[in-house]
Amino acid sequence: MQPAVMAIVEKSRGTQLSVVGTRIVHLCSACDAETLAAFHRNRPNPLMPDELPHITS
Ligand SMILES: [Zn+2]
Repeated sequence: MQPAVMAIVEKSRGTQLSVVGTRIVHLCSACDAETLAAFHRNRPNPLMPDELPHITS
């Protein structure tokens, strides 16, 4: 498992998403390889939750 930073988003005004915070999630380097790659590519920006359809906290 590898740590990554994920945004906590909140919907405001219907469809607009705004980032209200971040949290650490742990991703499997095998199952979540693409998500981890996206995270490292976009650092230091957090992952957006819609890139983590299977995440559970
Ligand atoms: Zn796995």
